Amino acid sequence: MALLPVSEALNRILASAATLPSQSVGLLHARGRTLASPVTSNVDNPPFDASAMDGYAVLADDVATVPATLTVIGESGAGRPFTGTLGKGEAVRIFTGGRVPDDADTIVIQENVTASGAAVTVLEAAARGANIRWRGQDFAKGERLIEPGRRLTARDVLISASCGYGELPVIRKPVVAILSTGDELVTPGTPLGPGQISGSNAYGLSAVVEAAGGEARFLGIARDTMTSLDEFIAAGEGADILVTSGGASVGDHDLVRPALEKAGAKLDFYKIAMRPGKPLFFGSRHPNGKLQYCLGLPGNPVSAMICARVFLVPLIGRLLGRETPFESVDAVLAEAIPANGPREHYMRGLLDLTTGTGRVTPFKSQDSGLVKSLQRANCLVVIPADAPALAAGTPVKVLRLDI
Ligand code: AMP
Ligand code: MG
Repeated sequence: MALLPVSEALNRILASAATLPSQSVGLLHARGRTLASPVTSNVDNPPFDASAMDGYAVLADDVATVPATLTVIGESGAGRPFTGTLGKGEAVRIFTGGRVPDDADTIVIQENVTASGAAVTVLEAAARGANIRWRGQDFAKGERLIEPGRRLTARDVLISASCGYGELPVIRKPVVAILSTGDELVTPGTPLGPGQISGSNAYGLSAVVEAAGGEARFLGIARDTMTSLDEFIAAGEGADILVTSGGASVGDHDLVRPALEKAGAKLDFYKIAMRPGKPLFFGSRHPNGKLQYCLGLPGNPVSAMICARVFLVPLIGRLLGRETPFESVDAVLAEAIPANGPREHYMRGLLDLTTGTGRVTPFKSQDSGLVKSLQRANCLVVIPADAPALAAGTPVKVLRLDI
C-alpha cells in the first residue's frame, strides 16, 4: 500500500474539522484565546477632549502675543472635570487626562508659565490645539478593532478594555486527552527499574497542546494490554481530540489501533510518507454522540513531537477557527544536504532570520533517537519525498518550532 503524502494527510485532518462554539471570557483570562467575533468599539477614544500635559487650558487668541497674563478660574484634573466656561483672558489649571473645558482650544504646558496666586503669565506662544487629545482621535465608536480568528495578545486585551468590553467572545478551547502507552514507561522523576524509561511524551505533548491554544488532559500510562487500553480510552471520552503515543506499529504489543477501533473509532488513514513518523493514524469516533478525533502518534519522542507539530497544532488551530492553522516560512539552505528517500523528511535544524531571507542549517544527524537535537532545534526543514541532493542556497519550506 502506498504511503499517504503528508500534505494529503493534513488536508484530510483539516477538512474533517470545524470551528468549535464560542463562549465568553473575562478580560483577565482572554490572552492566548481565539477571538470568535469582531471587537467593535463601544466608545470614542479618548471619550472627551483631554489634555496631554500638565499646564493651563487657554484660548489660543489670548496667548498669540507673549508674555500674556491670564486669570486662573478653576481646575480640571483627571476624573474631576471643570464645569464652568472659559472666557477671554481666563485660564483653567489642567492636568494630564483632565477634560479640556468646552471653550478652551489650547493647552500651555506648565514649564512655559510663571504662576502667582490667581494669575498665570504665559511666556511662550502655543499653537491652537497644542497638547490636546481630541475626542475619538485614537479610535471612534463603531470602529472594528480586532478581527475574529485572531489569537489575542496582551495588546488586544488592553484595547478591548479601552473600548468598553468587560468580556470577550472566544472559541472554546479544544480539550485534548493524551494517553501514553507502554509497559516500559514510568512517571518522570521516579527511579528507573531494569528496562524502564521515563514516559516523556505526555508532558511534551501537553505543552504543545497548551501552547497551541488547547486544554491538555493527561489520562495516564496504559499498559500494553487490551484491558488497560480499553480502560484509559474510555476515560478519554468527552475530549475533542484523543491523542495516543506509542503502540502504533504492527508489533505484537502494538494494540492501540485495534483498541481504538474497538472503542468505535473509524480509521481515516494509517501510515504516512513522513520521516520521522511513519506509523501515524487518524480517525474519529462518537462516544456518547460527541465527535472525537483520534490521532495516534508514534511512541518515539522525537517522532511524536514532530508529528504533533505537523498535525496536531494545525488541527487545534482549525478547531479554534484560525485563518492559517499551518504556517510555514520560506528560507534557503545554508548547507548542502544529501538526496532524500521516498518519505517527506522533517529535518531538525536552526533557522537564522537575521538576514533578509532566512537561512536554515539542518543538523548533520537526524537520528530520531536524539531528543537533545530536537530540544536544540528551532525549526523543521521540510524536504520533499525523493528530492535529489540539494545545494546550499536552495529554497526550502521551514516549520518553526516556536512552541
Ligand atoms: P512503540 O511505538 O510503543 O513501539 O514505541 C516506540 C519507542 O518509543 C519505544 O522505544 C518506546 O519505549 C518509546 N516510547 C513510547 N512511548 C513513550 C513515551 N510516552 N515516552 C517516551 N518514550 C516512549
Ligand atoms: Mg510501546
